Amino acid sequence: MVRYVCRHCGRRMGQFPGDWRDPVLGLAALTPEEQEEFVQLDDRGETATVKILCDYCLPVPWDDNLWYN
Ligand SMILES: [Zn+2]
Repeated sequence: MVRYVCRHCGRRMGQFPGDWRDPVLGLAALTPEEQEEFVQLDDRGETATVKILCDYCLPVPWDDNLWYN
């Protein structure tokens, strides 16, 4: 089981019922340092919590036209 949680506001983004090492997710391809930063395993190593940024906390792309309107 993999749960996706926003690392900024804690909002739950969704979950994946399979193993966090599933190649589809690409998490197993991360370096050990990256896994340590983004993936938290529970005590049994079965449920992984992945810290990402939700839509609300993603940096807003800078709109160059803003100054000229
Ligand atoms: Zn958020």
